[in-house]
Amino acid sequence: MGNYESFEYDVLVIGAGGAGLRAAIEASAAGVKVALVCKSLLGKAHTVMAEGGIAAALANVDDRDNWKVHFADTMRGGQYVNNWRMAELHAKEAPARIYELEAWGAVFDRTNDGKILQRNFGGHQYPRLAHVGDRTGLEMIRTLQDHGIHQGIEVHMEHTIVTLLKDGDRIAGAFGYDRERGRFKVFKAKAVVLATGGIGRAYRITSNSWEYTGDGQSLAYHAGAELIDMEFVQFHPTGMVWPPSVMGILVTEGVRGEGGILLNKEGKRFMFADIPDAYKSQTANDPEEGWKYTQGDKNARRPPELLTRDHVSRCIVNEVKAGRGSPHGGVFLDIAWIKEKIPDAPERIKRKLPSMYHQFMQLANLDITREPMEVGPTTHYIMGGVRVDAETQMSNVAGLFAAGEVAAGLHGANRLGGNSLSDLLVFGKRAGEFAANFAKEHDPGEIHDIEIEDGAREALEPFEHGANGAGSSEGPYQVQNALQEMMQNLVGIVRREEEMVRALGELDKFRERSQRVAVSGHREYNPGWHTAVDLKHLLTVSEAITRAAIERKESRGGHFRDDFPNKSAVDAKMNIVLSKAADGSMQIRREPIPEMPQHLKQVIEEMK
Ligand SMILES: Cc1cc2nc3c(=O)[nH]c(=O)nc-3n(C[C@H](O)[C@H](O)[C@H](O)COP(=O)(O)OP(=O)(O)OC[C@H]3O[C@@H](n4cnc5c(N)ncnc54)[C@H](O)[C@@H]3O)c2cc1C
Repeated sequence: MGNYESFEYDVLVIGAGGAGLRAAIEASAAGVKVALVCKSLLGKAHTVMAEGGIAAALANVDDRDNWKVHFADTMRGGQYVNNWRMAELHAKEAPARIYELEAWGAVFDRTNDGKILQRNFGGHQYPRLAHVGDRTGLEMIRTLQDHGIHQGIEVHMEHTIVTLLKDGDRIAGAFGYDRERGRFKVFKAKAVVLATGGIGRAYRITSNSWEYTGDGQSLAYHAGAELIDMEFVQFHPTGMVWPPSVMGILVTEGVRGEGGILLNKEGKRFMFADIPDAYKSQTANDPEEGWKYTQGDKNARRPPELLTRDHVSRCIVNEVKAGRGSPHGGVFLDIAWIKEKIPDAPERIKRKLPSMYHQFMQLANLDITREPMEVGPTTHYIMGGVRVDAETQMSNVAGLFAAGEVAAGLHGANRLGGNSLSDLLVFGKRAGEFAANFAKEHDPGEIHDIEIEDGAREALEPFEHGANGAGSSEGPYQVQNALQEMMQNLVGIVRREEEMVRALGELDKFRERSQRVAVSGHREYNPGWHTAVDLKHLLTVSEAITRAAIERKESRGGHFRDDFPNKSAVDAKMNIVLSKAADGSMQIRREPIPEMPQHLKQVIEEMK
């Protein structure tokens, strides 16, 4: 083995967002030696950007809420291809995780009688999102970090893991480098928890941060773990569309939760024209009923703007395609109109949506208390990811766990807003607990030099191309940009077989290009090099999304096929599973979703 700095832990957590921090806290509390590795500074993980809130059936604002309604909402939103056991655990355990966060110091907004306040969000039948203005993720990270720091967790921030290390069929650790100096490091661990987040940077228009290059999904896949549901990518309906430099940045669903409405260029509130059958009985008859719902009237039903994200996104795309879009290719989102209803509307908007107010003021020079915003769909979240056991979060690789956005199952074909932050807490805790158990029950695996040397050689190849000109003169950004453009155009919101088959051909070419990219300079402070390293992951997840999307010949949730616009009764019962074959190719197979037990079927029936 090269002369690399080496560390030894019981549990190594990769990722310091909500899932990673929660897992590290739990593992550490179980008395094992834990380390946390993350690409950015501690406290800067993507979770910090979360705005709207954390979903949990606390029933503080509407006492009709309970785990059963939350479970049924999650399954309906996921269009019944969810892992029902994960959905059950999530709905049952989320309230306890919120109270725990409160006990650790999270300062949630309050009801008049001092309880944790909850707000409306798309697809949730009752006000369910515990929140801190529109800066909930910041509060969550701050709280977990403060708590975690006192647990004796070792932190390696600004480090990128490039490969997982295995001993036979089990995990043995991970190999990576520090991003400042470029020095390689070996992390030996009895158990590894992946908490690396999503894949949004595979697309041109995205709300996701630079960290979202699909590393965890790809690391797991190359280590032999299975991926499922990769076709289900969520395009959030409201991203900024103007100016171009900020295209894709999220406009929280909280705007619609507070009464914001969607209008086309003719001023028509188009969402009332298309309400799916599954939601008809829960949707307002008219704008007045919708307004009352957003203001907490328990007898009113939700406005159609608060239907699920996949549906609202497609309605926006349809308006734009029909020539009724806004000047910059989106539609209008209007919260300023509420001044017709309440006298102190501008103050209320600034108080309830402070980040949105500043975001539009600073980035678009637009005052949302006076004018409508221009918004359009943006790549936001991936429901698919590493296949895990519902109880333990362990993948099919012994000792390799996954939690948070990198893992799959809970959200099925479409995630409800707010259900990610609760997912991080519920399954982050479980992953930490079971990883610690695994570490206690197993000796360390052996580290094989060859894996480390292969990882180092592969990571350093772009310098070779830069130095001797053996590759092309192409830099990693050119390949990354072209890949994002291709995925946006060929495997985006509306998909067609022939386009996706073309995308597979393009991916082959991108793979060749990525193997020849050149970076100059040296390993210290070299963002070009980091981008070159990330390309492998972007290509792996792009291929996984494309292959799974071709295989699912129906439209469901985030996956919409122009050539198969309806749901299929056969596909309704299937997961699409991807794994790496012995020859290195991506293998795809269909697997029946296990039958839901009678008591959960009954819950769904009761909640219809
Ligand atoms: C703008 C915005 C608003 C949102 N609002 C909400 C909301 O209100 N409610 C809600 O429920 N959801 C919301 N979401 C979704 C939610 O924020 C994310 O799904 C969630 O935060 C993901 O958390 P995570 O812990 O899985 O990963 P993250 O918080 O993304 O953390 C990933 C960690 O992994 C690290 N990492 C990645 N790759 C590597 C590597 N190779 N080596 C080392 N470290 C690595 C990163 O550095 C980071 O520390 C929002 C998303 C966005 C973009």
